[in-house]
Amino acid sequence: MSQSLINVAYIGATVLFILALSGLSKQETARRGNLFGMIGMAIALIVTAIGVVTANYSLLIGALLIGACVGLLLAKKVAMTQMPELVAILHSLVGLAAVLVGFANFLSHSSDFHGVEKTIHDVETYIGILIGAMTFSGSVVAYLKLSGKWGGKPLLLPARHWLNLILLVLAIYFGIEFVTQASIGEGLNPLIFMTIIALLFGIHMVAAIGGADMPVVVSMLNSYSGWAAAALGFMLSNDLLIVIGALVGSSGAILSYIMCRAMNRNFLSVIAGGFGNTAPKSSSESPQIEGEVTATTVEEVTEALKQAKEVMIIPGYGMAVAQAQHMVSDISKSLRSKNINVRFGIHPVAGRMPGHMNVLLAEAKVPYDIVFEMEEINDDFADVDVSIVIGANDIVNPAAKEVPDSPIAGMPVLEPWLGKTTIVLKRGMAAGYAGVENPLFYKENTRMLFGDAKESLENIFKNIS
Ligand code: NDP
Repeated sequence: MSQSLINVAYIGATVLFILALSGLSKQETARRGNLFGMIGMAIALIVTAIGVVTANYSLLIGALLIGACVGLLLAKKVAMTQMPELVAILHSLVGLAAVLVGFANFLSHSSDFHGVEKTIHDVETYIGILIGAMTFSGSVVAYLKLSGKWGGKPLLLPARHWLNLILLVLAIYFGIEFVTQASIGEGLNPLIFMTIIALLFGIHMVAAIGGADMPVVVSMLNSYSGWAAAALGFMLSNDLLIVIGALVGSSGAILSYIMCRAMNRNFLSVIAGGFGNTAPKSSSESPQIEGEVTATTVEEVTEALKQAKEVMIIPGYGMAVAQAQHMVSDISKSLRSKNINVRFGIHPVAGRMPGHMNVLLAEAKVPYDIVFEMEEINDDFADVDVSIVIGANDIVNPAAKEVPDSPIAGMPVLEPWLGKTTIVLKRGMAAGYAGVENPLFYKENTRMLFGDAKESLENIFKNIS
């Protein structure tokens, strides 16, 4: 395949990736965006396999087959609730690829370069491995945290900021050693030391993040995986990989910034670790929550809904666990047919990955025009007759506003308690992801409907229709 044909195909793929990103920014165009991304990736893969690779086809086909089988198996097996963990572990693979390609590239091609070219090549390799190793270990810890195999509490080492600074200084020191090396043998040691430092930094960075700040870390690791891919592109002199990496890296960084703004967090402080990490208080120290929990029944909830004019539905992670989105959709349809105004209020970090609730509601065909972001809807609660909180907890926790030393203090939340009645569907009194007690459950105008959200909603639906 001629070089100009490869270039044209790469430009086409790049345009498709840009269209994919712009499509994904709106619910209405997200499906089309995905399609553009898939076509772009297919073009990129085919052109690279046919036009760029010139030898070792058996190795390439073997690797592609293994990768495709693992990907297919994972995609078929993974439950919707495990998607965030899957995304985290896939990010770790991009990081690992950058580390492995970096070492292979250094060991096999370093002697091909001289003078300024060699310095540039060494810097590319060093930075690529650094970002890759951080992405790899950080993503593995994120995977463990999201899957509940590593506790949600932040790891707060004494003088942790100094520790980070020392790791940074050491990484720079070994970087200088590496770039000024005279032979491959001399360069290998600083490269290995830096890789260990970057792996430790990745672990420390994510381990220090408090429960409620994990969304920022997830999108930040997404961004890192993009930069790791861009670094791979530099190492392999592949323009398309550089462009795709930069697109993923910058869109991930923008998403992290948006998440920080939505959660009222300072981006740098979240990265350095320290937010969401007020040491958990012993129960004797925690402010006593006033009020009593009032349980309700399906019949009472049905009656309240039938009497209502304005209903707000607030879905959270529990809706994903119960896979209750289709039932929620059916109930909202039924209520709307009775001239009750039903709206959905979506918190930016509801669930376990950005856009989690929007994806589920779109899957259940809830019309986009009744789904609102928190900022659009929070002022309307005073006019709401019934808010139904479905498996949500942290995102409706008044402690974020009322308890200054709460681990989620300062995080904007949806405020259903300002409406007439709040009905909370959950199985028991368990805390949410951030591990914080929720005073909403004890408020006078809150009623708890205990049980699996899907079962409760099925019973409500039977009574309503
Ligand atoms: P939470 O994790 O705060 O609460 C979910 C609630 O759902 C639990 O309290 C649980 O209570 C209930 N639940 C679980 N299963 C069921 C079920 N089958 N039926 C009914 N209820 C159920 O979720 P939120 O969505 O409110 O908040 C998201 C949290 O996750 C935030 O802290 C956010 O920072 C964090 N996070 C978000 C990410 C993102 O990108 N969106 C990424 C990583 C973390 P019970 O067991 O009593 O039923």
